[in-house]
Amino acid sequence: MRRELIDALALGPLGWKDYANCLGANEDLFFPDRGASTRVAKQICAACQVRVDCLEYAVTRGEKFGIWGGLSERERRKIRKQRALEALERAVS
Ligand code: SF4
Repeated sequence: MRRELIDALALGPLGWKDYANCLGANEDLFFPDRGASTRVAKQICAACQVRVDCLEYAVTRGEKFGIWGGLSERERRKIRKQRALEALERAVS
């Protein structure tokens, strides 16, 4: 129980970053120049235990650059569009 509480507190706002698989990784992998490969960054993200938290953070904040939660800005934009559509559908139904 104590361990669960400690984990819950640690995973509060921004706490998830302490568990990031990319800690210490080369930032250029996650913020590549236009047209450069994102393959390695996405592989690191795929093995990350806080991938969902990271992705949600980037999507809700509208992060414009970089790989977050294993997705590029373009891929995150699709999620934001989908969520906006779903919210609109809920509003009119
Ligand atoms: S999902 Fe990727 S970018 Fe996000 S914390 Fe994990 S390794 Fe880093």
